[in-house]
Amino acid sequence: MSTDWRPAICVQGRPETLSSRSIRLKVDNLGPVVAGQHIDIRLTADDGYQAVRSYSLSATPRGGPGGTPLGNSEVEIAVEELPEGEVSPYLVEALAPGDPLEVRGPVGGWFVWHPTDSEPVQLIGGGSGVAPLVAILRARIASTSAVPMRLLYSVRAPDTVYFADELASYTTSPNITVDLAYTRVAPHGEARPPGRLTDRDIENFVQEPGSGIVYVCGPNSFVAAVTDLLLARGYDSAAIRTERFGGA
Ligand SMILES: Cc1cc2nc3c(=O)[nH]c(=O)nc-3n(C[C@H](O)[C@H](O)[C@H](O)COP(=O)(O)OP(=O)(O)OC[C@H]3O[C@@H](n4cnc5c(N)ncnc54)[C@H](O)[C@@H]3O)c2cc1C
Repeated sequence: MSTDWRPAICVQGRPETLSSRSIRLKVDNLGPVVAGQHIDIRLTADDGYQAVRSYSLSATPRGGPGGTPLGNSEVEIAVEELPEGEVSPYLVEALAPGDPLEVRGPVGGWFVWHPTDSEPVQLIGGGSGVAPLVAILRARIASTSAVPMRLLYSVRAPDTVYFADELASYTTSPNITVDLAYTRVAPHGEARPPGRLTDRDIENFVQEPGSGIVYVCGPNSFVAAVTDLLLARGYDSAAIRTERFGGA
């Protein structure tokens, strides 16, 4: 990966939920990209003040939304607006097509999935932590890989689901399973009562211990709680890969 800052331009912004949006960026000299990686974004104000934040790639050049390719040197991120945040409100509300920024990366060689990987994959995400997991699903769909992939996605309520239509469409994809677990408000008819993930959810919605790799991504407390549940159920720590977004 390149450690240099490179110019990038916003190509498109699409709302994901009321407080988030997907942003497509075109990056100069992007280089190789692997699903699961993240980029650093640097913004510079008129007075020279700079802010840097990391964002997981939700789409890589070969695996865009629905598994279709993106344009040359394009990637996507999905940003959740934190009301008191410095950078995310700008990215969600203000950044417009044509606006410049700078990008470093892609970064990361552990929390990644290659189409040549042969083990079954379990993805577990909380909130915007689903972004790199969707990149992995999209990369799998864009490839010739047929490895089984399951996603367990913890969200507050139906209107906070990122990539909702696309995730719903995966029900027809062979060997891909998507399960949603609501923490506060569940849709009418949902069998699982709202609440945070429990041991029972790991039993019901996560592949058996020893059967593949588990990727967990979300806020610190979510990743810590899920990792504890997995370890308590006998998952090998070497088979658990985590990415933490900071915050609660
Ligand atoms: C490897 C990596 C990948 C990331 N990928 C994504 C991504 O795909 N999408 C995304 O929206 N964010 C992602 N983040 C988080 C992102 O880098 C920023 O931290 C986030 O956008 C908040 O920035 P801000 O400037 O708006 O808030 P700040 O001004 O930096 O922080 C405001 C307050 O919110 C807290 N906070 C910071 N992040 C979070 C959070 N995620 N949840 C709750 N509280 C938080 C801080 O501790 C602080 O108290 C990622 C972080 C890392 C390290």
